Amino acid sequence: MKELTHYINGAHVKGTSGRFSDVYNPATGEVQAKCPLANAEELEAAVQAAQAAQPKWAATNPQRRARVMMKFVGLLNRDMDKLAEALSAEHGKTFPDAKGDVQRGLEVVEYCIGAPELLKGEYTDGAGPGIDMYSMRQPLGVTAGITPFNFPAMIPMWMFAPAIACGNAFILKPSERDPSVPLMLAELMEEAGLPKGILQVVNGDKEAVDAILYHDVIQSIGFVGSTPIAEYIYGTGCSQGKRVQCFGGAKNHMIIMPDADLDQAADALIGAGYGAAGERCMAISVAVPVGEETADKLIEKLVPRIEALKVGPYTSGDDVDYGPVVTAAAKANIERLVQSGIDAGAELVVDGRGFSLQGYEDGFFVGPHLFDRVTPDMEIYQKEIFGPVLSTVRAASYEEALKLAMDHEMGNGTAIFTRDGDAARDFASRVNVGMIGINVPIPVPLAYHTFGGWKKSVFGDLNQHGPDAFKFYTRTKTVTSRWPSGIKEGGEFNFKPME
Ligand code: NAD
Repeated sequence: MKELTHYINGAHVKGTSGRFSDVYNPATGEVQAKCPLANAEELEAAVQAAQAAQPKWAATNPQRRARVMMKFVGLLNRDMDKLAEALSAEHGKTFPDAKGDVQRGLEVVEYCIGAPELLKGEYTDGAGPGIDMYSMRQPLGVTAGITPFNFPAMIPMWMFAPAIACGNAFILKPSERDPSVPLMLAELMEEAGLPKGILQVVNGDKEAVDAILYHDVIQSIGFVGSTPIAEYIYGTGCSQGKRVQCFGGAKNHMIIMPDADLDQAADALIGAGYGAAGERCMAISVAVPVGEETADKLIEKLVPRIEALKVGPYTSGDDVDYGPVVTAAAKANIERLVQSGIDAGAELVVDGRGFSLQGYEDGFFVGPHLFDRVTPDMEIYQKEIFGPVLSTVRAASYEEALKLAMDHEMGNGTAIFTRDGDAARDFASRVNVGMIGINVPIPVPLAYHTFGGWKKSVFGDLNQHGPDAFKFYTRTKTVTSRWPSGIKEGGEFNFKPME
């Protein structure tokens, strides 16, 4: 059995706590590796290495730090297939989707190459008589990040690239369900020229997270994962005086207006609802057709498309639309929620229950499901299912559809499909959700904009990546300076050669 490691001070280090978790191959259901679960002493070793290395890194000029990022981008491209393969094998997502996971992280690294520009401070010449004022952005010191299983390449890079470009050391506690790619990324950063101790990976579960939360030296925590854990980490981290940003779960609505191109909307719903087996925080999990006629036509167009979906292991190549979910527990949770929808009276139009794939009977595959006539009081509407299950909630009017998205406690992403610019504009302006798509089902902002939801999908003030990341990973220091005047009058003004 393969035993994974931590990555501390430039070396792979075996776990010493004696605790391990299983890393599965979700397609076969087999345990393929053991992941060490760190205790507080193991975290301490990483913190000490980070603390020792960080001042020199912070003193390295931003352009040199950016060069490491530049080199890292080249290495990510060089190893793209290797990274995607390792990612698919532990997560289960298709090979092209795994490459997308690496690519969307890589784009944030590219953005961070602009660190010298982004870290330039502010300057006021003559703020008073003989007084100048300037603000500089300084790194925080030792920072940490806790990441989810569903984007094991992208989300770690969203955190560590800006943190490191700003001059911090970063300790990553990735998901214990797919920890191999984060370890590979740390190796590649060092190959790109990053000094030892600046990026370290400490694997673990709640015990490692709590050690991070209560460690005095750690200045900031970035978290992405489910809302209950986000809430816990935000509350505890803030009470410990840390700078914290936490991104939680989602329940993304897509509103389909009567004037929308329904083929386009149906195609969009297939990709956004079932891609990555629905294990995306930007997945569309609720379709809201406006009007009975729109709803009937939409369901009619969705059913054959859903029935044609190809579910299989990533090793089947491009011929697969989505793979297994991450663990047997995730599968059981989806099945339980599907049953709760049936019990609550929702209409199961496409029934993916009992799905089995020949040769992969023990894999964590879930067939695609489509519910119609879901209502807001049902658990399948209120909870994030994180599986290939799309719920349809019929709305009588645009205002009713808008109210649904507004009243849901989650506010990560949402979309509207329409040909009417007025409706689209009104929706984008009024809806209380962080990321909006207009005829775009998964509106994930690019690296130079920022990513973040509203309501219970986020805890904290600043978004991920884009300019916000450079604010999150730096502190502002403002200097007001006055120099004694009159010295120059008494000076020697005749030209003299240098001595
Ligand atoms: P999760 O909350 O179970 O785990 C996230 C991280 O927290 C992992 O590193 C895990 O080890 C750690 N953790 C788990 N339980 C903990 C506990 N009790 N105490 C302390 N730490 C704990 O989330 P997940 O299942 O890995 O990821 C899926 C979730 O992440 C979904 O809810 C999804 O919507 C969300 N997500 C959100 C975004 C976003 O940007 N808003 C992006 C991706 C995923």
